[in-house]
Amino acid sequence: ARTSAAGSDALRDKYLDGLLAAGLYEDSCRSRYEAVNYRHLSPYKPSAYLVQKLREYEDRHRRCAPHTNAYKKMLPLLTGGVAAGTVEECKYLLWTPFSGLGNKIISLTSSFLYALLTERVLLIDRGRDFSKLFCEPFPGTSWLIPEDFPMKNLYFNRGDPLSYGSLVREKGIVNPLPSFVYAHVVTDFAQEDARFFFEEDQRALRGVPWLLVRSEVHYAAGLFLNADFEPELSRLFPETETVFHHLSRYLLHPSNKAWGMITRYYHTYLAKGKERLGIQIRIFNHENSPFENVSTQVVNCLMKEKLLPEIDLNDPQVVPGRWKIMDVIVTTLHSGYLDKIRSIYWEHPAAGGVLVSVHQPSHEEYQLMDDESHDMKAWAEMNLLSFSDVLVTSAWSTFGYVGQGLGGLKPWILLRPKSPALQEPSCVRDISMEPCFHLPPAYLCEQKMDGKRGKVAPYVTYCVDVEGGLKVL
Ligand code: GDP
Repeated sequence: ARTSAAGSDALRDKYLDGLLAAGLYEDSCRSRYEAVNYRHLSPYKPSAYLVQKLREYEDRHRRCAPHTNAYKKMLPLLTGGVAAGTVEECKYLLWTPFSGLGNKIISLTSSFLYALLTERVLLIDRGRDFSKLFCEPFPGTSWLIPEDFPMKNLYFNRGDPLSYGSLVREKGIVNPLPSFVYAHVVTDFAQEDARFFFEEDQRALRGVPWLLVRSEVHYAAGLFLNADFEPELSRLFPETETVFHHLSRYLLHPSNKAWGMITRYYHTYLAKGKERLGIQIRIFNHENSPFENVSTQVVNCLMKEKLLPEIDLNDPQVVPGRWKIMDVIVTTLHSGYLDKIRSIYWEHPAAGGVLVSVHQPSHEEYQLMDDESHDMKAWAEMNLLSFSDVLVTSAWSTFGYVGQGLGGLKPWILLRPKSPALQEPSCVRDISMEPCFHLPPAYLCEQKMDGKRGKVAPYVTYCVDVEGGLKVL
């Protein structure tokens, strides 16, 4: 359990058992080494093999980074030319942002895993605000696609002639492939796009120096279904459900601006108690989610699972100074839920002399896309959720997945109402802290799933929160 947040536990290993390289970014990226003091102490250690592979990755990234000689030699291949001079061992994975911030983060993390597996260098399209939200993760280099990158439009669509799906459709599993290929890992997969996950296709893609990926899902679970990748993945992650947990803590460090928001909020509102509960409420379908029902669902879940203290109807007087404080953070786009929970403990005392202190950092009301200030709040709130000891998230929400993964927390999931009636049961405990791969291609499941379990990796199974979704257990 947490000893005490915010720097008071000097013995904590700020390098996260070797996950983070030592000695860098102390001032330019404060969160990198400080976040450990705010989060629940992770019971999961990265494997020595993962640590070794990360250090090798960092060397490769520095060697192949934009504007290095190696990179300059490979650039002509991007647009169909031939490599200038002797080709060095640099192959790239270009990632481009797509959909909400949570979707972006999980697809980015899966893409980093894919880059690790295939010895590629990950370069990201910064979009509107990625360089403002995150620190550079790799020591002494940059992961941003440079401003002078010759290919200006990195937004490719499913049927593009250079998409892997189209290339397969045209010519079968082709070898050799062009030197630039687009992989469409978006949930509107055509069957040929889904070939991305298969062994012979990945062997063919190995030779492609410039591979662009667009995705909005945690497709890591799909990589585990590839028999060529599985042994390496099991070696990297002997505790298989820790993929996103370790990689997100390695990769995603809030910028100093975001970290300022996170730590200010934390110290102002959430640092009083010994216990902290996070509640994330995401509404996807307003028709099926009237406020009264959803707020009842949330309270039912919290009470049934004893995540909040019971109320004492005898109204005992609590001696000032003897009470225990419990901090609760609610994150949602909407107003109303906060008051609902707060008023429970205003109108009656909690049993056991507990004071329940409930806060909600923002209520933006509407989801915006690629808006810096809005995304900054969302990113700050995902981090604040990750500081919880216990977490309740909403089914289907990648926003919640990021909080749970960074926090190393297996959440209770508020199930998504299928009709306007009150949802019963209100919530269930998740089976692992890994995010769910929403809507994997049916073709992949037909070929690679054996009933509930993966044929190649039996610990790949179906998600609790999303019907038909896949996750690593
Ligand atoms: P998902 O749609 O729940 O899977 O999560 P995403 O993060 O991909 O997209 C939802 C977007 O809506 C977020 O990125 C935010 O922009 C916004 N949003 C949703 N819930 C919240 C919330 O609790 N707090 C804030 N600040 N923004 C939210």
